[in-house]
Parts: sequence; structure tokens; C-alpha cells
Amino acid sequence: MFKQVKAILTIESGNPELVQAQLAAFTKQVPLLYFMLVTNTIALTVTHYDAAPAYLTLYIPAVLYAVSLFRLVHWWFSRHRQYTHEEAAGRLSSTYRLTALLGAGFCAWSLSLFPYGNAYQQSHVAFYIANTVIGCIFCLMHLRAAALALTAIVLGPFTVFFAATGNPVFTALALNVALVTVAMVFILLTYYRDFRALIQSQKELTARQAETQRLSDENHRLANLDSLTNLPNRRQFRAELERRIAGAEAGGKGLALGLIDLDGFKPVNDTFGHGIGDKLLVEVGERLSGFVARGVFPARLGGDEFGLVFEGVPSADRLHALGEEICAALQEPYVFNGQTARVSGSLGISILGEAGTAADRLFDRADFALYLAKQNFRGTTVVFSAEHEAEINEQGRVQQALRAADFESEMHLVFQPVVDADTDGISAYEALARWESPSLGTVPPGVFIRAAEHAGIIGRLTGVLMRKALAAAATWPDHVRLSINLSTRDITSNKTVDALLEIIAESGIDPARIDIEVTETAVMRNFVLAAENLHRFADRGVGIALDDFGTGHSSLSYVHRLPLSKIKIDRSFIVDIATNELSRSIVKTIVDLSRNVGCVCVVEGMETREQVAALRKLGCRMMQGYYFARPQRLEETLAYQAAADTIVNAPIRKTG
Ligand code: C2E
Ligand code: CA
Ligand code: CA
Repeated sequence: MFKQVKAILTIESGNPELVQAQLAAFTKQVPLLYFMLVTNTIALTVTHYDAAPAYLTLYIPAVLYAVSLFRLVHWWFSRHRQYTHEEAAGRLSSTYRLTALLGAGFCAWSLSLFPYGNAYQQSHVAFYIANTVIGCIFCLMHLRAAALALTAIVLGPFTVFFAATGNPVFTALALNVALVTVAMVFILLTYYRDFRALIQSQKELTARQAETQRLSDENHRLANLDSLTNLPNRRQFRAELERRIAGAEAGGKGLALGLIDLDGFKPVNDTFGHGIGDKLLVEVGERLSGFVARGVFPARLGGDEFGLVFEGVPSADRLHALGEEICAALQEPYVFNGQTARVSGSLGISILGEAGTAADRLFDRADFALYLAKQNFRGTTVVFSAEHEAEINEQGRVQQALRAADFESEMHLVFQPVVDADTDGISAYEALARWESPSLGTVPPGVFIRAAEHAGIIGRLTGVLMRKALAAAATWPDHVRLSINLSTRDITSNKTVDALLEIIAESGIDPARIDIEVTETAVMRNFVLAAENLHRFADRGVGIALDDFGTGHSSLSYVHRLPLSKIKIDRSFIVDIATNELSRSIVKTIVDLSRNVGCVCVVEGMETREQVAALRKLGCRMMQGYYFARPQRLEETLAYQAAADTIVNAPIRKTG
């Protein structure tokens, strides 16, 4: 019981939300409280001014006014302040103490006026106390402890005092006020209980909301971060790019998008295992994060692809320079548990404004620049330029025409012989595609093959070309081989490979007469899958030729893991073979290498007698070049073949 009373009479400082709510509710009542107190007091001093001594009607009230005024001013200046829990609890305690003090003060003062007045004035005192204290209790409704303390401090003495006067009117009045007080305390306790319950439920609601928010934040974080590298993922990168584009446009600032694709990551995964592969990706993320201070925002877009947003880099030249620094950083060796892995990163950059505004366009153009980097300058940076724009438009037109093209009628093949320089006989024909587009005219294969790759229709095109090539080969003597070019997409598509193997089987041509040609770069794009599919061809007896050898950057260590039967030395080494010692030594090395790994070596692109002579000296035997023959139509190959057959072992002369 005593404990309960004590609890009711103390401030619940252990409940921060309640304390704050109490303070806020009470703060609103403060002006009213003091207004009532002061006006009632002034009224009482006025009615007693003549009857009572000055210390009671002037000086003591003046002190009370001063305290009230001080409180009011203090309230005014602090009415919008936010309080910490300790401060708020402190304020409630001081309000509690002050209420008790002021209650006792006002009560003692007003009772001391009682003896000086006549019956009317005495009634005023009784009325003043009862009236004022009830008003104050209402204002203190939210501070249960203070309100109850005030009730006890003022109404206790009041009732006793007036009951003790012996006057029946005052006795009745005292009893009356006592009854009202009991009713009021009851109301107060009920009200306060409800108030506290309301705050409690608000508190729970806020806690639930906070939990919901926390869960949603966590969800957001997980949905937007790449769990391996902790970099933003594609989704967030995209959102961030769009946000920054809007900012850059509004502020007239520069912005660029970079796309990185690692070169040689797959072999690292294969050789060292996925654990090291993952560590390498994490380190790539860290190296990219090292450029954050230079206005670079990195993200992992998936697999071995990373995205960058560049901000505040003023020109294409500066972007290129920064891009090269990033590429150099990625090329540094990666050392894990004493094992060293190496990859490089190709970077394609597109600049906002120059390359268009929408994020999609920026992505497309950065992707194009990346494609160029990967095709021609692995491990370096390509910044998308106006020339690239023209190229893309051209590509777009070509792709459109290609989609509408009837491959059967518009595409044909020409054949370039590979000559055995030892016997001067034709060892093979390489089939080379030609396209006469009704709308675009003659389109070079370098252009339409790439367009077909981009348009995703290369597999179908290769199928048509292979069927035509096999039909041509059927017209040649059995010892003449057929070489067919496959693109990257062909050898990394299981579906296309299935279809091509089917076409070969249906043709009735011995697979051992066929070579497929793939470039180093094509194989390196997805080494594992490419190697797997090349093995499928090799298993059927099809020969595999590595085309344009020497132009890629792949290391020879991967070459021996492919089922190669032929290596074709790129034309660029032959152009100056007669005069350049370096080209000669490169060709010599490749010839020796081919011999070591048991491959036939074919040299491409000799146009002069001098070149042929130089190549012969280096030990080259298989030759394919304009010096011997340009690519020719099927009818010509037959005529050529017939001519070659009639003049047995006659030297083949330059025809084109
Ligand atoms: P490639 O596979 O390296 O083919 C050899 C290219 O060098 C051919 O160009 C040929 O005409 C040219 N060439 C041969 N000897 C000489 C010479 O002495 N001097 C000069 N300047 N050039 C010579 P072409 O037919 O224009 O083909 C270009 C490239 O297009 C090919 O290079 C190949 O990568 C691609 N390509 C051609 N046909 C096909 C095809 O059916 N499928 C695929 N995927 N790619 C093809
Ligand atoms: Ca070729
Ligand atoms: Ca070639």
C-alpha cells in the first residue's frame, strides 16, 4: 500500500517516452496555469487591499508574481526545445518540487489573509483557494505525482482550516470541496492511466515501425549489394547512374560510364579453383575502390564484369588516361597463398552528352567501346568517339538488312586455295563468305560477320554457309581439304555446335577432310566452353585451325590445351617479311612451335615472289595468299583444279 502510494507520488523517470509525453503535454498548459494563478491572486489582493497589511497584499504577492513571471519567461524561451531523457526527467522533478512549494506558499499566504476580512472577504479566500487549486490540478492532469501532491498540500490544510472555524457555512464548504476533490482525484487517476496506456501503445507502434524499417533497410542493402565484393550490384549501379546523370545534367557537369570485362579470368578459375577466383574478384573490387577519391564509383555488374561511373573528369583524353591507370592497376599480379594469378581488364568508356543522355545509350556505347577494346586492344581503355558513332549507325543498317536477308540466295562463298609449296599442289580451300545485299550492295565479311554476331543470327548464317561449303567440297577430289571459319559465338554456343555437327554428318563428307578455323581471341573469350566444343569437333575427326595467330595476347600455355591441328600465321607478319628481321624471327618461332606441338603451319597473305622466297627459307610449306590465288568462285576452283590436274606438278602461278 505504502509502496503503491509512493509510486503514484513519484515521477516515472524510468519510462522515457512517458516522461517526454508528460513534459510536452504539461508545457502546453503552463501559460494557462500561471495566468489563472496570477489573475486569481490579483483579485484576492484587491479585495483585501484595505483590510490587510501591505506585506500581505503587496510584498508577498510580489514575490509570488516574480516567481510566476520567471517561470513564464523561462517557458517562453524553452517552449520549442527538445530535451534528452535526463533533462526531461529533471524538468519534471523540478516542476514537481516547484508545484509543492508554490502550492504551500499560495495556500499559506491566502489563509493568512483570512483573519483580516469581513464575511465576504473571508468567503473570497475560501473561494480563491478552492477555485485556484482545482484549476491547477486540471492543468497538472498529465503530471499525476505533482497533481496529487498539490491536492494533498493545499486541500488537506484547507479542509481542516475551514472545518475548524466552526462556522456552518465554511464547514459545509470544506466538506463540499473535500467531496469534489475525491471525485477529481478519481478522475485524475483514471485519466492518467489512459494517458500512460496511450503512450505505451504509441511506443510499441514506433518500435514496430522501427523494426519494419530496419528489416526493409536490410533487405534493401542485400538487394543492392554484391555479396562477394560488397560493391553495389547491377541494380544499384543502374539506379545510381541514373541519379548521377540527372545530377550532372542539372549541374552542367561531366559524367562518363565505364564497363570493365576481365581478360583471362576464366582460366584463373579453371587453373586455381573458384576459391582463388572469388578472392581475385574481391581484390579487383578493392583495386577499383582505390579510385573512389578520383571521382570513380565502382560496382560489380556480375561475373567478371564491373561498372564505373566517372564524375568530374573533364575531357576524353583525361578519361582515357585515368582508364589506362585503372587497367594498369588491374594488371598487377594477384598473389594468394604464394600463388600468383594474372588477369587484365579491358575498359570501354562512354561520355554523357557525346554519347547521348539516356542511361541505356551510355550503356550501349560503353559496351561497344568495350567490345572494341576486347577485340583489338585487350587490357586497355577505349573511349567511345564520333567515329564509333558512325560505325554503330553503319552496323545498325547492316544488322537490319541482315535480319531481313535471305541467306540462301544473298550469301555465297568464294574459295582461296592453300598451296603446298613443296609440291605446288592444292592442299585445301578456305571458304570465305560474300554478301550481295539488295539494299546495301557488297558488304565486306569483316562487317557483316560482326553484325550477325551482334544481331544474334550468326549461328544460322554459319549453318547456311557450312552447308554451301560442304556442297562445294563434294565436287573436289578427296585429298583437297575444306577450311571453314567459325565465329566466337559459334564455338561458345552448344546449340550451334550441335547443329553444325549435324550438318557435317548429313553432308556425307568425311569429317577428317574438314578444318574449322577459330581465332585466338574467339577462344579466349570463354576458354572453357570454347575448348569443350572444339573437342567435340576434334572427336569427330574435324581438324582445328588457330587463325590469325600472333595477333592475340593469349599465352601459349592455353594453346596446348586445345585440340589443334593447324596454326595459321597472321598476314601482318608477312607484309614486311622480306625486309624486316623481327617479322622473320617471329614467323620462324611460330613455325618451330607448330612443329613442336605437332601442328601444320599455314602462312597467310603472301603477295610477292620475294615474300614467298623469304618464307620458304624459314621452312614454311603451306601458303595461302594472293600470290598464289585470290578467293574465287566455285566454278573457278573447278577450272583451276582441272588445270592443275592436267599439268601435273606444274608450278601454280599468281592468278590475281
Ligand atoms: P581470315 O579468316 O583471316 O581470311 C583471310 C582473309 O585474308 C580473307 O579476307 C582473304 O581474302 C584475305 N587474304 C588472303 N590472301 C591475301 C593476300 O595475299 N593479301 C591480302 N591483302 N588479303 C589476303 P576476306 O575474305 O575479306 O575475309 C575477312 C575475314 O572475314 C576473314 O579473315 C574471316 O575472319 C572473316 N570471314 C570470312 N568469311 C567468313 C565466314 O564464312 N565465317 C566467319 N565466321 N568469318 C568469315
Ligand atoms: Ca580464316
Ligand atoms: Ca586469317
